[in-house]
Amino acid sequence: MICLGIESTAHTFGCGIVSDKKVLANVKDTFTTEKGGMIPSDLARHHEKVKDEILANALKSANLSMSDINLISYSAAPGLAPAMMVGLRFAKELARKHNIPLVGVNHSISHLSIGDLITGAKDPVYLYVSGPNTQVIAFAGGRFRVFGETLDLGLGNMLDKFAREIGLGFPGGPKIEQLAKGKYVELPYSVKGMDVSFAGMLTKALRLFKEGVPKEALCFSLQETAFAMLAEVAERAMAHTDKKELLLIGGVAANKRLCQMLNIMCKERNARFFAVPLEFSGDQGAMIAWQGVLQSKEAIDPEKADINPYERIDEVEVTWR
Ligand code: AMP
Ligand code: MG
Repeated sequence: MICLGIESTAHTFGCGIVSDKKVLANVKDTFTTEKGGMIPSDLARHHEKVKDEILANALKSANLSMSDINLISYSAAPGLAPAMMVGLRFAKELARKHNIPLVGVNHSISHLSIGDLITGAKDPVYLYVSGPNTQVIAFAGGRFRVFGETLDLGLGNMLDKFAREIGLGFPGGPKIEQLAKGKYVELPYSVKGMDVSFAGMLTKALRLFKEGVPKEALCFSLQETAFAMLAEVAERAMAHTDKKELLLIGGVAANKRLCQMLNIMCKERNARFFAVPLEFSGDQGAMIAWQGVLQSKEAIDPEKADINPYERIDEVEVTWR
């Protein structure tokens, strides 16, 4: 089984190729700006522009042609509709033209599945921290369940907004990590059960910036406060579900300080901490391809293929575990 996976839910257009459990190619291009954030129509234009070249490069790097592909998967949910439509149309067109079965997968679940594949985690609590998402997830009672999540914006988006407002450009997370040093300034720490909220922290940090607090100290304090909140809710979910592994996924998993704090928490409770390596932690096509392999029996008629921008992971029936 050789599956081509197409990702296009947000800022990244990616094509990955997976053969059984091996990633043969993972090529992507991510929309970035020097100033300002991401506008859905700009994302769609970006994806449209790069899609043919990304596919060609993925095939080349796997040393394959379209005739070797037995399955195409695309990210059908959740995401920004204008961006997702580019992937959907591309996947349908390829499926029709080359007569290959097509399967739509949930992008968030793909993050979890590629995490398991790459790290070897068996049944972890997942901490999924991307641009729009901040969720604590675990497999329980036959489904992936969300035990806790952000009540307002995702941590990545919060960092991106802060960065944009103080003129650092997009994506903001890596820039904030580089700048983070100095004195801790107190920011609202907001945990409710296993839920978190970041809006108050963002508002206060922006106010302090206008009042002249150095950006380095604010970057440092945003990280320390937000990451401590995540460590607290992840630990609560591990205790509640009695799971002995924690798997960090999503673009924010690239952050070294976050990994360090979660690692300490896991050590203290005799659990194992896994961080998904950079190549597989953010949005990319290999995770869509691997999820396609897992759901290969669920291929659909390309004419009926669609997107579902608001599907949540607990709505997905898990047939492959
Ligand atoms: P994703 O939506 O999973 O592709 O993740 C993208 C998000 O990850 C963006 O909001 C980035 O700002 C954030 N991000 C990427 N690298 C880092 C980092 N080193 N530290 C914090 N956030 C990061
Ligand atoms: Mg993502």
